[in-house]
Parts: sequence; structure tokens; C-alpha cells
Amino acid sequence: MSAARPARGCPVCGRPAARDFRPFCSDRCAKVDFGRWLKGAYAIAGDPLPDADADDFGGGESEGA
Ligand SMILES: [Zn+2]
Repeated sequence: MSAARPARGCPVCGRPAARDFRPFCSDRCAKVDFGRWLKGAYAIAGDPLPDADADDFGGGESEGA
């Protein structure tokens, strides 16, 4: 667990995300990332959602690793 990005910016170029293209700064970067995701999707069917993992990690009832 480590903060990779200090601030929320475009995952492609790091610029502040634009409201219309979140989390990207522009449709161009969105397409760039989409292209990367497609490549990854072909190789591995992973989860393209880097979000949703931070708050719900503190229960600690039974962790079977
Ligand atoms: Zn960008």
C-alpha cells in the first residue's frame, strides 16, 4: 500500500483531469489509455479500475491468503 500518485491527475500525462474527460485531461489521453487497456485486455482480462480500494480495508476478520 503506497500512494503512487500524490494527486489525481491524468494517468497518461499526469496533468489535472478535465471534468469532461475524467480521469483524463483530454479525450486524446483517454484514447491513449484506452488503447493501452485494449492491449492489456487482450493479454489479461484484468480489472481496468484502479479505483475502489482504500476505505474498505480495515475489518480484519479472517484473511485467508
Ligand atoms: Zn493527459
